[in-house]
Amino acid sequence: MRLLLLAPPGAGKGTQGERLAVWSGARHIAAGDLLRAEAQAGGRLGHEIAAHQARGDLVPDQIVLDVLTPAVVEAAACGGYILDGFPRTLPQATAAAELAVRLGVTLDAAIYLHAADEVLTQRLLNRASQSGRTDDVADVIEHRLQVYAETTGPLVTYYAERGILVAVDANQPPDSVTADIQAQLASLAG
Ligand code: ADP
Repeated sequence: MRLLLLAPPGAGKGTQGERLAVWSGARHIAAGDLLRAEAQAGGRLGHEIAAHQARGDLVPDQIVLDVLTPAVVEAAACGGYILDGFPRTLPQATAAAELAVRLGVTLDAAIYLHAADEVLTQRLLNRASQSGRTDDVADVIEHRLQVYAETTGPLVTYYAERGILVAVDANQPPDSVTADIQAQLASLAG
């Protein structure tokens, strides 16, 4: 199975990505986690990634592609992937589509998790104490939601036009979100 999760910060991409990976046997590839690991590793690239993440800005496309592509190539060869937080820009979406063609695979669905900004902000503030993430503070959260609306939002139309968009209400308990996703994937396949 090959899926991607398209969702604003706080919608539950990580939780659902992990569950869908266990359920389908595909690999969960979380863009934010891979970039944070790269940032931790330090060096010039690490520092540049860390600076973008701390501000709540997107990491430049070329860096994202350099970090994510090897993971996607590897996962495509063994059971597929659940892309969580990639692509987030139109150029990334185009690059991901070209990569899929090169690998001879197709995307089964783009799962769009939606919830109101107030719900998302509250969730991110609630998890801030456990997440330990420097970008889980009020002003950066607001900026991340803005960046999402302006830059990632247009991907909803992009995947809807390709006939593979699955929209799910993220403002429900995690089990209900998972059940909705699975039901919609089943009807897509049927
Ligand atoms: P969230 O969705 O809550 O913002 P993520 O862990 O998915 O959490 O992303 C955290 C940060 O990592 C983003 O604010 C951005 O700086 C960077 N990032 C993650 N994915 C991408 C991507 N596809 N393109 C550019 N930057 C990204």
